[in-house]
Order: sequence, then C-alpha cells, then structure tokens
Amino acid sequence: MAFSARTTQASRRRKRPQPPIFSGVSGSYDNKDNDFVCPICFDLIDEAHITKCGHTFCYKCIKQSLETTNRCPKCNYVIEGISQLFPNFVLNELVLKHKAHLDEKRFRRDQKTDPDGADIVDLILEDNLDLANINHLMDVLHQKKQQLEADGALSQNFIIKEFLRNVRQKKQEQLKQLQMSWDSLTKI
Ligand SMILES: [Zn+2]
Ligand SMILES: [Zn+2]
Repeated sequence: MAFSARTTQASRRRKRPQPPIFSGVSGSYDNKDNDFVCPICFDLIDEAHITKCGHTFCYKCIKQSLETTNRCPKCNYVIEGISQLFPNFVLNELVLKHKAHLDEKRFRRDQKTDPDGADIVDLILEDNLDLANINHLMDVLHQKKQQLEADGALSQNFIIKEFLRNVRQKKQEQLKQLQMSWDSLTKI
C-alpha cells in the first residue's frame, strides 16, 4: 500500500509523460481523424515526429514551437532541441494509409458517377454474338431503356442513357453488317 502510494507520488513529481498520441489507434479509419491530427496545427500530421515525452507533431510544427519554447506543447516536458525529436514511422505510416483511404473513398465516389461505358460495350463486342443474340440483346436494351424512361431514372442518370445509346448504335451497325452478309449468303 505504502509502496504504491510512494511510486504514484514519485511519478507525479517527475511529470510522467502522457501516453503517446497514437495509443488509441485501432478499429476503422473513419473515426480516427483525431489520432492523426497535429495538436499544433490541427491538420493531419505531416512528417510525424515524436518527442521524448511521447507526443507526436508535424516536424515543421514542433520545430517551430521549439524555437520559442523548449517545452512540449502537449505536456510541458522539457525538450532540449530538435535533436530530441525522432521520426514517428508508425504514425507516419498510419497517417499515409489514412490519407490513401480518404483518397480511395473520394475516388470511388467519383467513379460511381462516371462508369466507363465504352469499355463495357467493347467487352460485349469481343464476344462473337450471332444475329439472334444481337436481336435479343437489342430487345433487352430497348425494354430497359423504356423501363428507365418510365421510371424517370433516365433523366437523373444520363450516363446510363449514353451507355445504352452507345451499345444500341454499335449493335445496330453490327446488325446491319450481319444482315448484309446474311443477304449475300442467301442469294447464293
Ligand atoms: Zn502540425
Ligand atoms: Zn509531451
């Protein structure tokens, strides 16, 4: 009992550093913004550097802070200079992953509104579809078009409209060619 009370007192006197900023990093990235935020500039930590007391800041921010005071902005622990700052590779990695995750989310969101219709058309055209299949496909597409028009979805999604138009046009061209060759075959 007496022992533990003494150690608590002693550690308080020595100003024990607080736990490192990344101690709470776990789980999904989505709620982790705070763990990756620099306590000086409140932005995502850039070039994370950790102090002797276990606090992480942007290298630029802590360096600038040490020019005016030799104490940790977070816990007041004395830091002699930039020689006592160490790159926080772990947090740096996590921040980069977090940034990449944010970028990916943004990218996916952008992609959703811009499907590459031409690629899908090419994919269909790669198959050697016969006349019956093409007619069927055109019927399906035509029905789909009518259905979309009825739903009013077409006005909201002109990309699908463009895609269907593109497919239809290419299929019609293909159909015309096939009909021409069919005609020439039946003439023989
Ligand atoms: Zn900063
Ligand atoms: Zn500190």
